[in-house]
Amino acid sequence: MSYDAIVIGGGFYGLRVAMHLRERCGSRSVLVLEAAQELMGRASYTNQARVHNGYHYPRSLLTGYRSQVNFPRFVEEYRDAVVSDFPHYYGIARTLSKTSARQFELFCRRIGSKVGPAPAAISSLFDSSRIEELFLVQEPAFDSRILRRLLLERIECIGGIDIEVGVRVERVEGRHGTIEVHAPGITFRAPRVVSALYSGTNVLLEASDLPVIGLQHELTELALVELPDELEGAAFTVMDGPFFSLMPFPSRGLHSLSHVRYTPHHRWSERAAGETRDPYDLIRRLQGHSRFSSMKADVVRYFPGARRMEHRDSLYEAKTVLARSSGDDSRPILYRPDHGIPGYTCVMGGKLDNIYDVLLELEHQHAA
Ligand SMILES: Cc1cc2nc3c(=O)[nH]c(=O)nc-3n(C[C@H](O)[C@H](O)[C@H](O)COP(=O)(O)OP(=O)(O)OC[C@H]3O[C@@H](n4cnc5c(N)ncnc54)[C@H](O)[C@@H]3O)c2cc1C
Repeated sequence: MSYDAIVIGGGFYGLRVAMHLRERCGSRSVLVLEAAQELMGRASYTNQARVHNGYHYPRSLLTGYRSQVNFPRFVEEYRDAVVSDFPHYYGIARTLSKTSARQFELFCRRIGSKVGPAPAAISSLFDSSRIEELFLVQEPAFDSRILRRLLLERIECIGGIDIEVGVRVERVEGRHGTIEVHAPGITFRAPRVVSALYSGTNVLLEASDLPVIGLQHELTELALVELPDELEGAAFTVMDGPFFSLMPFPSRGLHSLSHVRYTPHHRWSERAAGETRDPYDLIRRLQGHSRFSSMKADVVRYFPGARRMEHRDSLYEAKTVLARSSGDDSRPILYRPDHGIPGYTCVMGGKLDNIYDVLLELEHQHAA
């Protein structure tokens, strides 16, 4: 079967890229291939659900600034999926933080993100010997299930985009000016193929004898918790080091708890063939191994107010960044056109709002 373009991966990136290829890049027929039975069921579902507004990256001015630029676009495009009916507080730890309260405030001003003091009643829930200052910020969450619905409704409206779930691509290869995409028992063809596989990017590259890209992965656990009533659904993020974050997880009506020290159960880097590992297989093996009690014990040291939070579930997923991003915590995009095969493009974004940077690159490539 032949198409103008094929997108491999039915996460947020794959679906949004498919729309863009149809609407802005001249592809009249687009096919999306997703290995799982459901769309947006992997990293696009299991994440902290933060609509980044820059605050999270005080050591990467560019990432902070790009978040600030992309934020209004994301909020405008997915208004119904954006949840902002809760206060969000960022605390700066006194020790082990790579950023001081003053530096954080200055950073927010430089990138143009609003920041103000937290109310005294909320600050008093924290241990002031450990938290230098607590700030009120403007950073909402998103509901991944609503996001998926919005995308699918738009895809339906646009037309010309076929979606196949339960199709795991095993290999891609260039042949006579076209790209063959091989799945069990079937081969699809297109002159243009975009891989939007996030943590699975290198598995397919290696299986296709294409160059592996420098990526770093973490096998993560997000604990889903219920907060005590007096915290009224608020979000708390403590920066900038081995601390934690409590964010609303709207699609389950709970909060996610993640901790820089305990959320990653395992890390690995891929820089060359032979170093790639199937992230989904590793995730399967991690199920049931929770570090919630270690996370909670540390959270309560800083934030005694969270003592009565209850563990309801844990979700596991691989988190992937470019190898060069791990040091400064930045989140640049991956955009590799003609990667080993003319017309084969690998894309990846370290957070959802980076999608606009990827779409811009696709447009530039189309115009060239
Ligand atoms: C713990 C964690 C917390 C995060 N927190 C945030 C946050 O708060 N805010 C934010 O903006 N971002 C956050 N992120 C990052 C964000 O989740 C990702 O940037 C985003 O989801 C990537 O989307 P994607 O579509 O590229 O990946 P995915 O959603 O993982 O989609 C890739 C798809 O490809 C499919 N696939 C894989 N291999 C194949 C194959 N061979 N054939 C066919 N299909 C295949 C998979 O099944 C999957 O559905 C977080 C990530 C993690 C893991």
